[in-house]
Amino acid sequence: MKQFKAKRVLIEDQALEYSLGRKLDERFKEEGIPVEYIKSHNRVSPDEQMSPTALFNWTKETLVVGVKKTLRFKSCYPSADYRLVMNTSCPGKCEYCYLSTNLGSASYLRVYVNIEEILEAVKKHIAKGEGKIVSFEASSSSDPVAVEHLTGSLKKLIEFFAKEEKGRLRLVTKFAFVDNLLDIKHNQHTRFRFSINSNYVIKNFEHLTATLDERITAARKIQQAGYPLGFILAPLMIYDGWQKDYEQTLKKLSSELTTTRNQPLSFELIMYRFTTRSKKLIEARFPNTKLKLDKDSHHHKGFGKYVYPEEKAERLKEFIEGRIRHYFPRAKIEYFT
Ligand code: SF4
Repeated sequence: MKQFKAKRVLIEDQALEYSLGRKLDERFKEEGIPVEYIKSHNRVSPDEQMSPTALFNWTKETLVVGVKKTLRFKSCYPSADYRLVMNTSCPGKCEYCYLSTNLGSASYLRVYVNIEEILEAVKKHIAKGEGKIVSFEASSSSDPVAVEHLTGSLKKLIEFFAKEEKGRLRLVTKFAFVDNLLDIKHNQHTRFRFSINSNYVIKNFEHLTATLDERITAARKIQQAGYPLGFILAPLMIYDGWQKDYEQTLKKLSSELTTTRNQPLSFELIMYRFTTRSKKLIEARFPNTKLKLDKDSHHHKGFGKYVYPEEKAERLKEFIEGRIRHYFPRAKIEYFT
């Protein structure tokens, strides 16, 4: 797949005080991408008359370059101790994406340029742990691999954590651009997780992301580079032929990865879900979606959240966990939710 190229770039004035901000400014101008300068990276307002689909497409083609002001990190329970946000959103257009739903009209891509200040803040948060391991999730608000070719921030982050005795980094991606991360010092302090699914789900719902083959190839490279590795199977969906498809995904994965490493693989399993709010947004943005959004055939978990009814969920859990145990007997299944 091709790397993301913005159709328009908005640069916050203050971002030009940082070398990455100036570098990006020059690069985009050289590439002939229209660049505009704005007062605040939080005040980005496209034409309000746009249809929901047009607005969504606009946000996914727009890159905002800004300075991160809030350097007190939020909790990221249960995935990690803190959220570490170097960028927000991503160029993918996954129909069910909870991030796009939460961000609403702010789904545009944003990269922060004050990397050194963010790393200083990480140090302070590690110190708060008073000698305990402190973990940070780099994908709570974005897919950091998708914009790495522009910023190089993930590489810096991994190298930074390699030197932090008590700091650990986690990230998850649906992209495959990992080549600049293979020969760097990571000290096994960064856990890479790839979000994978059946070919059916990827083709129908995960637009503009890497194919399954590309993700598996990238995962193999990451494993060979010695990183701790894991997979998130999400959203797990039930549709005609789902068992055969998930079997194929796991079989393919097992044939491509080595199993002799000391580091066990981790699996996180998340079944398909939607909320009253996401249903509305998905139907507006993707009028022809094949996602199943009928409330009556799902179980209402409360707070407007819908999942598969108990019996179906149990069947899904048993099948997927059984196949993981079959293909990866030493893997750790962290949770099914
Ligand atoms: S790749 Fe991840 S963050 Fe990007 S649209 Fe898909 S689910 Fe959302």
